[in-house]
Amino acid sequence: MNLCWFRQDLRLSDNPALRSALSDNSAIALFILEETDTQRPMGSACKAWLHESLIRLQSDLEAIGVPLVLRRGDARDIIPKLTSDLKIDNVYWNRRYDPKDVAIDRALMEHLKEEGVNVESFKANVLFEPWEIKSAGAGTPYKVFSPFWKAALKEGVPAQSLAVPTKIQSKPQLDQLPFDNLEDWDLMPASPNWTNGFWDVWVPGEAGAFERFKEFLEINLKGYSQNRDVPSKNHTSCLSPHLRFGEISPLQIWHGVHAHSGGEVDKDGYKFLAEVGWREFSHSILFYADNLSQTNWKSDFDGFAWVQDENGLTAWQSGQTGYPLVDAGMRELWQTGYIHNRVRMVVASFLIKHLRIDWREGEAWFWDTLVDACPANNPASWQWVAGSGADASPFFRIFNPIMQSEKFDPKGSYIRKWVPELANLDNKSIHTPWEAPKLVLQEVGVRLGENYPKPIVDHKTARDKALAAYKDMTA
Ligand code: FAD
Repeated sequence: MNLCWFRQDLRLSDNPALRSALSDNSAIALFILEETDTQRPMGSACKAWLHESLIRLQSDLEAIGVPLVLRRGDARDIIPKLTSDLKIDNVYWNRRYDPKDVAIDRALMEHLKEEGVNVESFKANVLFEPWEIKSAGAGTPYKVFSPFWKAALKEGVPAQSLAVPTKIQSKPQLDQLPFDNLEDWDLMPASPNWTNGFWDVWVPGEAGAFERFKEFLEINLKGYSQNRDVPSKNHTSCLSPHLRFGEISPLQIWHGVHAHSGGEVDKDGYKFLAEVGWREFSHSILFYADNLSQTNWKSDFDGFAWVQDENGLTAWQSGQTGYPLVDAGMRELWQTGYIHNRVRMVVASFLIKHLRIDWREGEAWFWDTLVDACPANNPASWQWVAGSGADASPFFRIFNPIMQSEKFDPKGSYIRKWVPELANLDNKSIHTPWEAPKLVLQEVGVRLGENYPKPIVDHKTARDKALAAYKDMTA
């Protein structure tokens, strides 16, 4: 019998590990809620997504005659015991790229092979594996996105993705062994379950991913390059959590965009695929980094004088900074588990530069609250904003949260949606309520310091302090 170990690939289509496991016509699938000393535990929002996604995966696998076994603990203990108890000859999985996961996979592969079990792993969650794209001269991994993506595009991708496997003949009977119940994992947050609102916005699972992708291709791909920066337009794909859990593969996205464009990808398709390319780049950075979520990729930043500011951190987390665009983003995050990319950059910059709070605090909050919290994209993007990361925006380029708001949300539509207490302000005052005449505020019921905060820092003063701290670091 064969075993397919599902990890970051919760789909049936374009799944080479599953395809191989089914070659003998009798297979079981396994998902492990991994608990080890080295791996980072999943954040709350991702756990809630996982719960929903596993329900769908279990039923999709059931439909093709494959039982999904659930276990929690250390894969290095669970899988060898399972292969011995169930007399499994072959184990298959799709590769992952966090060095801590890679270490576990390598140790497990070695151990199983010693026990006489055949193990095979596959590329399925990226278009290009980190070691496939290296600079032609030095043969080292790229540190800058543009040459990385240029080199990647030259490599080419497989001509097509794999279809959903057909139903197998002999479904294994597994009743005799103790397996976990999904409900016993308590993946949904309790008291309160703050993720309840997520499911108005999201449909986890492979079918939900493809529905979202189809809608994006039909409605929002056209005009993507122009509109992707406007948070109120919802012009991006919102595929990030589906990619995070592997409910759709980047190869399927690649071919979907090409097929939709009739083979000739235009500037919108190209821009969209380049964003998927940033995900590839982050995975390469993650693979070669030494603990990307904890360690500055550029060690110069080890000497930065971060500020301990509990009140500032709480105001930021709860969307109470007094800067409407920042607050809108942080509230969107809390209510939906997602923030638009432009606003992610603004809120991250505000925490790091206006409050001078360590980027690791922001990364950890996103890790806990994003449904797409990704071991590669999250730390790489936080370090990109901080200036400590690969191909990063320089620290001294400080986003002005007011100008960003006026430029990308000119009518305040995004702010009105997420900060309802400001909804009746005019298009000018909504970006800077503290500058609005008292009478205007009174008319629309805004009482600064009572039902909406005054700015917790002054933009210019905060900017000057950030630049001074950066100067000290580089002195
Ligand atoms: P689209 O614009 O439709 O892009 C398609 C796909 O390309 C995305 O789903 C994503 O997989 C990838 N992508 C897009 N932009 C980026 C980018 N800048 N870097 C890497 N990949 C990208 N993305 C995550 O997937 N998980 C995270 O945990 C995450 N944390 C972030 C933290 C910060 C501080 C910032 C600034 C960005 C972060 N991003 C993260 C990147 C980006 O914001 C999201 O991928 C994007 O907003 C997801 O929306 P979408 O699927 O509609 O994107």
